[in-house]
Amino acid sequence: MKDFRIALLPGDGIGTEIINETVKVLDEVSRLAGFSYTGETFSVGAGEYLKNGDALPESVLKQCSECDAILLGAMGLPDVRLPSGIELTPQIDIREQLDLYNGLRPIKLYHESDTPLKGYQAGDIDIMLVRENTEGLFYERKKVADLEADAATDLMHISRKGAERIFRAAFEQALKRRKHVTLVDKANVLPSMAYLRNIFDQIAKEYPAVNTERQYIDAMALFLVQRPEEFDVVVTENMFGDILSDLLAGIVGGMGMAPSADIGDEYAVFQPSHGTAPSIAGQNIANPIATILSAAMMLEWLDTAETRKGAAMIYRAVEIVFEDPACRTSDMGGTVTTAGMAARVISALQAD
Ligand code: ATP
Repeated sequence: MKDFRIALLPGDGIGTEIINETVKVLDEVSRLAGFSYTGETFSVGAGEYLKNGDALPESVLKQCSECDAILLGAMGLPDVRLPSGIELTPQIDIREQLDLYNGLRPIKLYHESDTPLKGYQAGDIDIMLVRENTEGLFYERKKVADLEADAATDLMHISRKGAERIFRAAFEQALKRRKHVTLVDKANVLPSMAYLRNIFDQIAKEYPAVNTERQYIDAMALFLVQRPEEFDVVVTENMFGDILSDLLAGIVGGMGMAPSADIGDEYAVFQPSHGTAPSIAGQNIANPIATILSAAMMLEWLDTAETRKGAAMIYRAVEIVFEDPACRTSDMGGTVTTAGMAARVISALQAD
């Protein structure tokens, strides 16, 4: 049997706690589902930058890319900045350097008490946000701002290759789900978005079994709050995806419930959508669920019968744990600790 090599990148802030607890879940799942893995831990992030002057050493990225998958906690600290004044974002650098264009951000409501919206039960909100990860409005993010200049400009860059591959990724997701894709753009105002929409229309023709819809980003912010149950796969450019993923997390319990996968043609990184939450780091109160669900996405992506079984076991265990509204970490109004939540998930794992 193959022994999967998993690169573990705890990173900064709450990253260490949530990765440690997720590894405990993975250990138990591997035993029950019958797959084998070895975790290899690497130091990347603001802490590494303070020690060695490089948040993402090239040698570490190379070693990570030789592993079968990368599981990341969270990176960056508000006070640790580059000389340009910009925060370190090695997690975005990894996406760009490994060309992880397909940002999957699944959002699911596990219990009616976890949403600020009225009348939604477990499972009523079930959306796969597909965020383009490598271009869009993040395209020139490395440019250094001239603070004395009379104006500043950021470029929205959409390439045909980038648009085609993210749309195909979104349609492939839809085929595995409820066969509906919503494009989110601003085609009524921005030429780059009219270009994007035109490519969407072309790719849609390759997938006649999938229904499509087009929405403007401003209207979409409204509809996701008013009628989230109507959306299945939602695809958009980098910055709109960044914003919508936080909005979506907000309607199912917050950032602690939002997992993610950044997938390319060769490599993939799995990490919670949230940041390092430095104000609660080291207190054993962070919500580990987003990371545990990201680990389940990793097992799905590794795509063997055993790892797929392991992923299904984690999803089911989280459903079982969340049936009890009293079992929540502090971000969701409860008193369960990080370790306590992982232990609940482990005890809810069922082999069949
Ligand atoms: P980034 O820019 O790196 O995404 P951010 O500035 O958006 O980070 P986060 O670190 O995601 O901020 O945190 C936003 C808020 O959510 C903070 O109040 C933080 O304490 C809380 N939070 C985020 N993740 C968790 C978690 N796993 N458990 C509990 N609270 C969390």
